[in-house]
Amino acid sequence: MKLHWQIAIALLAAMAVGGIVGDAPWFIKLADFIGTLFLNALRMLIVPLIVGAMIHAIISIGASNELGRIGWKTVLYFATTTLGAIVLGLVIINAVQPGIVDGQPAGARLGLDASADAVLEKVQGRDGRDFVGVVLRMVPPNLVQAAADNEMLALIFFSLLFGYFAARLPRELAEVQQRFWAGLYEVMIRITGWVMRFAPLGVFALVGKTVAQTGWSALHPLLVFFFAVLVALSIQAFIVLPLLVRLVGLDPLRHLKLSVPALLTAFSTSSSAATLPVTFGCAQRAGVSDRVSGFVLPLGATVNMNGTALYECAAALFIAQAYGLELSFISQFVVVTLALLTSVGVAGIPSASLVAIAVILSAVGLPMEGVGLILAVDRILDMCRTAVNVFGDLTGTVIIARLEGEIEAPASDVTR
Ligand code: ASP
Repeated sequence: MKLHWQIAIALLAAMAVGGIVGDAPWFIKLADFIGTLFLNALRMLIVPLIVGAMIHAIISIGASNELGRIGWKTVLYFATTTLGAIVLGLVIINAVQPGIVDGQPAGARLGLDASADAVLEKVQGRDGRDFVGVVLRMVPPNLVQAAADNEMLALIFFSLLFGYFAARLPRELAEVQQRFWAGLYEVMIRITGWVMRFAPLGVFALVGKTVAQTGWSALHPLLVFFFAVLVALSIQAFIVLPLLVRLVGLDPLRHLKLSVPALLTAFSTSSSAATLPVTFGCAQRAGVSDRVSGFVLPLGATVNMNGTALYECAAALFIAQAYGLELSFISQFVVVTLALLTSVGVAGIPSASLVAIAVILSAVGLPMEGVGLILAVDRILDMCRTAVNVFGDLTGTVIIARLEGEIEAPASDVTR
């Protein structure tokens, strides 16, 4: 049986078993052990993979001015799709108004799930800092420390510099560098393939534990918000991004099929960073060259988060509605801008956007405890938005590869 089918079955089984077993300590313990083992195995690949893929890509792009061209396309794609996703969240939440129940702000009915302190403690260290902080983090005072702290932007920046200068070495030395980094990248991809053989087990454990602990009942009071976000995320994933794929003359359905392993892994791990090794495999199977995927994917997993940006905007508006606050046009504009900027700084780890949401809330004058309102649904929506984040990265990679003339469209797929 194909791996993605095995993972899909594991996912369904986990939802059923997690729901039936409930939070029985033996199940939580066992699921926690297996899930953590799988997650660790993926995480251990992140640093060598980002550095290896990025340096390998930059050296292959070489000393030509191709880097600038691919770079601009990447930035343009990231910015427009993220902005589009935010506007989608804005429109849907304004239309559905999930924070208003029977004409009244829903805040009192929902009750705050947590005090400000508890919320802040939960979200501590999730990296939603301001834009200046993001730029500062890009240049690490200590590279080893940055790697240990999973500071992706710092690793990307260093790898860019390393690749740029390695490509400009005298030919003999440059060739040695090129072969070394190509080999390292290939080894990482192979280890990923091996780790992924255990994915059905890992996915079962991770999702089973979440369902057992959160339960579906947590959704009830927030059902409208939950579905509004789900609809917005689905429009982004199943209409907007596929349209872009179509626009460059490729088959969106085939693209979706090839992306399934990465989407399922993102859904199960809630972490675009941990999914990165799998994302690389999908890009490779889609026919994207190492030089494009090595450049676009690590950047994408770190700064391009369609789902997260959409969610941040939706959550901030929902909380405002629940508090009975009518946001002015200017305030909505601030929400959109901050969602765009903070989604760049949010780390690709579970629940990372909670801090960013707190930042947005305080910017428009709402109490930070508002984050407590959405905690109950955050875990499950995290799974969904992370899948959209990863799909946005993969779609961008495929589009840029196509624009670079790398992927041949099947004859029947060429748009005329
Ligand atoms: N979990 C998300 C990711 O890794 C980030 C977030 O929105 O919390 O992409």
